[in-house]
Amino acid sequence: MSTKYIFFTGGVVSSVGKGVTAAAAGLLLKERGFKVAVQKLDPYINVDPGTMSPYQHGEVFVLDDGAETDLDLGHYERFIDIRLSRVSNFTTGQVYAEVIAKERRGDYLGGTIQVIPHITNEIKRRIGLVAKETGAEIVLVEIGGTVGDIESQPFMEALRQMRNEVGRENVYFVHVTWLPYIGATGELKTKPTQHSVAALRSIGISPNMIIARSDHPVNDDLGDKIALFCDVEKRAVIPMVTTPTLYEVPLLLEQAGVGDFLIEKLGLKATRKPDWKPWQRLVDKVKSPKPAVKIALVGKYVELQDAYMSVREALRHAALSIGVEADIQWIHSADLEKGKSWDALKAADGVIVPGGFGSRGIEGKILAAKYAREEKVPYLGLCLGMQLMCIDFARNVLGYEDANSTEFDRSTEHPVIDLMIEQRAITDMGGTMRLGLYPCVLQKGSVAAKAYAEKQVDERHRHRFEFNNAYREEFERNGMVFSGISPDGKLVEISEVADHPFMVGTQFHPEFLSRPHRPHPLFVGLMKAAAKRAGVK
Ligand code: GLN
Repeated sequence: MSTKYIFFTGGVVSSVGKGVTAAAAGLLLKERGFKVAVQKLDPYINVDPGTMSPYQHGEVFVLDDGAETDLDLGHYERFIDIRLSRVSNFTTGQVYAEVIAKERRGDYLGGTIQVIPHITNEIKRRIGLVAKETGAEIVLVEIGGTVGDIESQPFMEALRQMRNEVGRENVYFVHVTWLPYIGATGELKTKPTQHSVAALRSIGISPNMIIARSDHPVNDDLGDKIALFCDVEKRAVIPMVTTPTLYEVPLLLEQAGVGDFLIEKLGLKATRKPDWKPWQRLVDKVKSPKPAVKIALVGKYVELQDAYMSVREALRHAALSIGVEADIQWIHSADLEKGKSWDALKAADGVIVPGGFGSRGIEGKILAAKYAREEKVPYLGLCLGMQLMCIDFARNVLGYEDANSTEFDRSTEHPVIDLMIEQRAITDMGGTMRLGLYPCVLQKGSVAAKAYAEKQVDERHRHRFEFNNAYREEFERNGMVFSGISPDGKLVEISEVADHPFMVGTQFHPEFLSRPHRPHPLFVGLMKAAAKRAGVK
């Protein structure tokens, strides 16, 4: 059977949930027995988002193979419950880098290198790689940005070409748009959708389905109007009103008949009936009233919650699994340095310090770790959050006042966190960290080992610095437990404070492997300890 492709384009504005829609559609198809894969095409020129500020781009989602990718891959993995690889995300930067490298090698000797066909061929080659690598029957491809962006033109052109090359019956175009609401007249408008479909048409693509996102109920007349003006079947106009929980999206798409419709249009036959019970239970749980447990998330990109997307989702998964609501208090660590936001921190029953880079706000995070340690407030430190928990320990338990990471103070006398040896000679910033899945051996009887109920785990990493082994013994003598170590014994992967209800730091990022139906054990550990402190469990 030839591979089927579903392309997701965006119209009107970005950030309307194209990624979640593609992820949910993937689940609809997986539930019908198909092997699906998902890919995101990012039209920006960076080679990957690894070098971009979270303010610009949101979280960088890390895969097993160490690829630093767009946060939409997090949605795909969480909704469809799959593990993706490097081929599932590429950028204009990667496409050009490849074509230019070939040109320098002389592969095109004599030729003039052009957007069509050289760039579009490379785009098509990379789309084709997904099915080759994964054996997927259906590949869902999301194109970043909105139709009409200069950057996305070569991508759209490549999709247009693919339609003829792989056969029209194997390609389906879903256009996700936004219906603005005009407060003065109380109505939703379809005109921007019509314009974005016109823009898509001008490059030779006619959408087969329109998913009309809106914050307000979309009545039937509006659906008729979109069908008429945009030349799609009425059945293929899917209104999608904003839901209180993302995890309701698959259920809504199913109710709207999207799953059956897609396979009918692709000429496929389902091999099994979808089972929505676990999802319905999950959504019911989200909607039912639950005791709230306040968790302080002390970070530096808190104005943009997308920067901590997976951390937020992992907290939600864990909270739901024990029947509570994670009420996240977003605290800017720099505020703590100025004596601000302490009330919010003190009102919380758990503290989480997520990953990060650079020195801004570091001292505030160390203060949060100190507070959690001294007041015995449950604490989970993720990567940087583990490193800072060790710095607090060195400063305030061991008495090394100037203890620091060489990331923030190169000349500290007590570099308890230091650059990994392999990192010392590296000068390029992009893609050069310790990235991806590495094993970690758990110490029997530790908080971490009990939480995981495993002897060894594999977790995803993204860091340059590590715990300095010269200090290991001294830390251990004074009440730090290194409960997770790399199999060769060289790298501290998990540290925890003894005689504390739950103070655990991980050099890796457990948040990337949390799933709605399989919350991450360490997040569950944090939530359980916090719920206990709050007196609700
Ligand atoms: N900046 C730290 C390092 O590079 C922590 C990285 C992180 O939190 N992802 O090791």
